[in-house]
Amino acid sequence: MAASVSVPASASAARRGHLYVFSGPSGTGKGTVLAALCGRNPELWFSVSATTRAPRAGEADGRDYHFVSRKRFEELIATDGLLEWARVFDQYYGTPRAPVAEQVAAGVDCLLDIDVQGALQVRERMPEAVLIFLKPPSLEALRARLTQRGTEDPAEIERRLAAAADEMAHESVYNHILVNVTVDETVARINDILVAHRLKE
Ligand code: 5GP
Repeated sequence: MAASVSVPASASAARRGHLYVFSGPSGTGKGTVLAALCGRNPELWFSVSATTRAPRAGEADGRDYHFVSRKRFEELIATDGLLEWARVFDQYYGTPRAPVAEQVAAGVDCLLDIDVQGALQVRERMPEAVLIFLKPPSLEALRARLTQRGTEDPAEIERRLAAAADEMAHESVYNHILVNVTVDETVARINDILVAHRLKE
């Protein structure tokens, strides 16, 4: 277990919440890291994205994603209901705008788990957002994790590996780059980043 790092309380009427945008190749372990981060910092709010992809086993609507039809997603785009959106692996993914705006206005720090295209859009609209890139120790380690996860077929795994190389080519636009070797260590390093940003207020 990593030592837990004390994070100053985030919610107050006087401050706007920070936006922390996390990206990284599929299979890097972002989901596990962010769940552990939220577990240790319950004052953080995690943005639930909308997607047109089908739920995986164990995923719940409203908790992991808002699973919506293509028609509904296109309505969200047309009504400017999304802070950012992108097509990833032939499916639409996007961040509902209103909940993020409400949390930031209420002084709550927000976490977004989105791809590189989305992160760049968020930075355009909210330049104060902090962009954090999580990467696997190597592409071979990523292949092993994707294979072990067993939620994608071999063709899809190859596609995700190609996309991973593409995403990693953009890592330099991020404010922080972390190699996810162990969850505890990565969470501790993210905690340090959160503390540093809060101390700058
Ligand atoms: P998965 O299908 O494995 O849950 O996610 C695939 C990719 O879509 C991941 O890289 C994830 O970060 C990205 N993603 C998830 N939600 C969003 C979103 O709201 N916007 C964007 N741009 N990407 C997202």
